[in-house]
Amino acid sequence: MAKKQFKSESKRLLDLMINSIYTHKEIFLRELISNASDAVDKLCFLSLTDDKVGLSREDFRINLTIDKENRLLIVEDNGIGMDKDDLDNNLGTIASSGSYRFKQENEKTDDVDIIGQFGVGFYSAFMVADKVEVLTRKYGADSAYLWSSSGADGYTVKEAEKDSVGTVVTLHIKEDTENEHYSEFLEQYRISELVRKYSDYIRYPIIMDMTRSKVKEGTEEKPEYETVTEAETLNSMIPIWQRPKKDVTEQEYEDFYKSKFMAFDKPAKIITTSVEGVVTYKALLYIPSKTPYDYYTKEYKKGLQLYSSGVLIMENCEELLPEHFRFVKGVVDSQDFSLNISREVLQHDHQLKTVANTLEKKIKNELASMLKKDRETYESFFGEFGRQLKYGIVSDYGMHKDNLKDLLMFNSSNGDKLTTLAEYRERMSEEQKYIYFATGESIASISKLPQAEVVLNKGYELLYCTQDIDEFTLQTLAEYDGKQFRSVDSDDLGIEPEQNEPAAENSDEVLKFVRDALGDRVSEVVASKKLVSHPVCMTAKGGISFEMEKYFNAMQPDAGMKAQRCLELNMNHSAVKAMAELIGKDDEKAKKYAEIFYNQSLLIAGLPIENPSDYADLVCSLM
Ligand code: ADP
Repeated sequence: MAKKQFKSESKRLLDLMINSIYTHKEIFLRELISNASDAVDKLCFLSLTDDKVGLSREDFRINLTIDKENRLLIVEDNGIGMDKDDLDNNLGTIASSGSYRFKQENEKTDDVDIIGQFGVGFYSAFMVADKVEVLTRKYGADSAYLWSSSGADGYTVKEAEKDSVGTVVTLHIKEDTENEHYSEFLEQYRISELVRKYSDYIRYPIIMDMTRSKVKEGTEEKPEYETVTEAETLNSMIPIWQRPKKDVTEQEYEDFYKSKFMAFDKPAKIITTSVEGVVTYKALLYIPSKTPYDYYTKEYKKGLQLYSSGVLIMENCEELLPEHFRFVKGVVDSQDFSLNISREVLQHDHQLKTVANTLEKKIKNELASMLKKDRETYESFFGEFGRQLKYGIVSDYGMHKDNLKDLLMFNSSNGDKLTTLAEYRERMSEEQKYIYFATGESIASISKLPQAEVVLNKGYELLYCTQDIDEFTLQTLAEYDGKQFRSVDSDDLGIEPEQNEPAAENSDEVLKFVRDALGDRVSEVVASKKLVSHPVCMTAKGGISFEMEKYFNAMQPDAGMKAQRCLELNMNHSAVKAMAELIGKDDEKAKKYAEIFYNQSLLIAGLPIENPSDYADLVCSLM
């Protein structure tokens, strides 16, 4: 029979697995049990609506068998099973699991760490076995298959006999070598210890024949011993979220997070909650500290796992999380959700809404308290997911803004640190009319904008908006605690600039002259009320800012979205006055000045100038 090759990326990970001197080989058991449990979940769920399954909740189980003589460890489940395609797709490739992609993106990361941090799934079996066989029959299928592999050189699949639905994974445990010991995985005590350590919460009994010596009946006075073998359930079956918080260690919560959600970061926050009321439920939620690698792709699925009385009824229940908290991971368990409800009906269930609402409040409060009590963690969280919160503010016509506004942070002229809006507000003086902000590509470029000068000179704080979403966010908020947001681009900043120099006398004439010289390249030319030491600036009129223009043009280059350009002249500036002098005497030269002012203002605003070489020639002609 021809051997099939593993898909190339699988083969490489497999090599890595087989050859790594990995100190935590023992996790293979957790991975196999977790696969078995998932498979049982699937059939258990089907059994709720499909009588043909012929099994009820109590019938589901996972069996472990040790055959010491033949060095076999066998993990058997009566779950959904696999057909031929499943075997090829699931056990022939590992591309779908996060670990490999993470590995690719972080090439320099230590191999050993990767294996330790991830659930590496089925392949981890090869850390302890030199041959793995999977005998499986899928629910609803007539034939069974035997998948077999001795590692990196490929695998075979052939038809086989199996009476019942489910999967039997047989590991041929490696021989001990001088440095590596594998025989421990053939010891009952060791296996039962591993089950309790890693898989205690699995909601189905994990059963193994345990041999122990026992006092013979009737010999209590003068004990005689005999050896008995009895099937024992090794796990307590209490899910981690059902255990009292004080009995669960931080490490256990973290391990659960990593293995359940394929995560590799230490969560920024672990939230446990137990609610009794209209709907009674327990939830265990995690706020990640790192953006998942697929967060901004279609593959990322928002949602929480939904359980009802210990049965997983939905892998990703989207309705439980608002979009702005889509980074949250976790489980919700409530006996109030009826089991035999179809998934579609469940989606419209008002109970779900109730749970979703209380969870949203809870998450928000936890974030707010993190901001208050553990600023450093919050700032790093905000660096990862702040953009998501801002999207939350602008989405749904600003419906969530009151909920989210106090979670925002911005850079500002107040220093290197991020500030909240409340903190800005608190620093505001009596006379300051507005909360000022300026948009641009970097803090450095914003802080040098001519139009920012009057605000900064006045000693007022300026919010630096460097993300494309920032300006929409502030526009949606409109105000904070009674103070409106005001862009430094707007005509009226509510500040009278201090003028030492008298303005040019023929102001109106100058403005009209420049307007005529520039034609429809600008929509307005005005005498600036805010420029101090700079001669010109370009501001955007009519609601679309230059940052929005850049943003939209990047998204849809053909749409030709353009902000209205308003050229502001500082009538007190010597360069502007020099131009004013020329008007009527040397109009040609005055026009050149106007042209230079226009191009300068574009450059400062970070906008492309229409013809750089013409501009250079123009400047040279005046030199
Ligand atoms: P993961 O569990 O992270 O998806 P694995 O490599 O552990 O990755 O398993 C790959 C896939 O193989 C699983 O998603 C599942 O579809 C299938 N599988 C593994 N073990 C079993 C099993 N005991 N019963 C049914 N399907 C299984």
